[in-house]
Amino acid sequence: MPERCSECGQKMEIELGFYYGTGYVSYALSVAIAIFNFVWYTVLVGFSWQDNSIWYYLGITITMLVLLQPWLMRMSRVLYLYMFVKYNSNKSAPAPVNKMP
Ligand SMILES: [Zn+2]
Repeated sequence: MPERCSECGQKMEIELGFYYGTGYVSYALSVAIAIFNFVWYTVLVGFSWQDNSIWYYLGITITMLVLLQPWLMRMSRVLYLYMFVKYNSNKSAPAPVNKMP
């Protein structure tokens, strides 16, 4: 991750340990993907106690989450920055002041 944004100069690491909270964002995204998979799997395949459908669902979901992990990490950092850094439409103005408590 670069130290500052190449476009606006916003500092990326706002404070030490700023990105610890992204674990919760990443977790929320993972649960959302698992629920999304559950919905389409229920509609297209369906769950039954008579076959291994639950294991296929878990296999698909776990494989997907492992493969998407690099994207999930980056996306959770972006969402975290969106939560805490105010958008500044005036590019020539100084970088926005950090609003963290
Ligand atoms: Zn920027």
